[in-house]
Amino acid sequence: DQGLQKTKEGFLSKITKAIAGKSSVDEEVLDDLEEALVTADVGIDTTLAIIDRIEKRVAKDKYVGTSELNKLLQEEIEEILVDASDDKHKSFDIPEGKKPYVILVVGVNGVGKTTTIGKLAYNYKQAGKSVMLGAADTFRAAAVDQLTIWSERVGVPIVKQAMGSDPSAVAFDAVQSAVSKNADVVIIDTAGRLHNKAHLMDELGKIRRVISKVIPDAPHEVLLILDGSTGQNALEQAKHFTAATDVTAMIITKLDGTAKGGVVLAIAHQFNIPVKYIGVGEKITDLIVFDKHEFVDSLFN
Ligand code: GDP
Repeated sequence: DQGLQKTKEGFLSKITKAIAGKSSVDEEVLDDLEEALVTADVGIDTTLAIIDRIEKRVAKDKYVGTSELNKLLQEEIEEILVDASDDKHKSFDIPEGKKPYVILVVGVNGVGKTTTIGKLAYNYKQAGKSVMLGAADTFRAAAVDQLTIWSERVGVPIVKQAMGSDPSAVAFDAVQSAVSKNADVVIIDTAGRLHNKAHLMDELGKIRRVISKVIPDAPHEVLLILDGSTGQNALEQAKHFTAATDVTAMIITKLDGTAKGGVVLAIAHQFNIPVKYIGVGEKITDLIVFDKHEFVDSLFN
């Protein structure tokens, strides 16, 4: 069930309550459904989009009983999720001609960035790729230490420098080192401080520029890590980071311990950026490729 038990329980029970005892989908059912989705952390904009689609379907199909509403809802929710399945590289393959494949990882401290980098490295290694890490969050000693522990756990080399050194210098080193060692993938951690947008833009911009000096079309991916258990806060962080830099995909962590998994719908819908993976636990194997059909299915069944 993908570890989404709590989200599923919250989600389903709210929806079930909204339609209990009703025989057809009327205004009142839609109002209750709207409230159910909002309180399930789907967010107001996305909720309204879903309700709007259902209203249109109900108008078109004339009569829709509440028994069909679940299925309808499931279909409409899948429709608004951004498809990542056209992305052939989601299962840890490297696109042709992109070696080393450079992945920049961004996100606020505490969201599970380091853990997710460890999981990504593990998965790429399992897929037979040679992986390197770059510790470009040089502002926190703990970040470098933690990433070093993950590099040892997974058994992949790490490029790091003294705390306080220039993050872009570390990123440059890491990519150069990946080139010279003929590595398949290099995953670079960045600092997640959120002082202000200009600062974040500057810092990430500089890192991107030095990386592209080594490999012109790199970074190939910019992954934004968001903590799903923070619900609507994750949406705010997504706004902040997507405004500061080009994010190619999102990873939503900690969906195992929370009932707020509905936020995945809001994030995927509002930013039009695919959710590529989700984190469903602290273990190295607890990162799964996000599949919108499976995700929606696990919420309803
Ligand atoms: P960072 O500061 O963003 O690098 O965050 P860390 O990677 O150090 O993670 C912060 C905490 O969240 C740690 O205790 C992790 O074990 C935990 N964590 C990370 N991802 C997940 C996840 O998917 N599920 C759960 N339950 N915990 C997670």
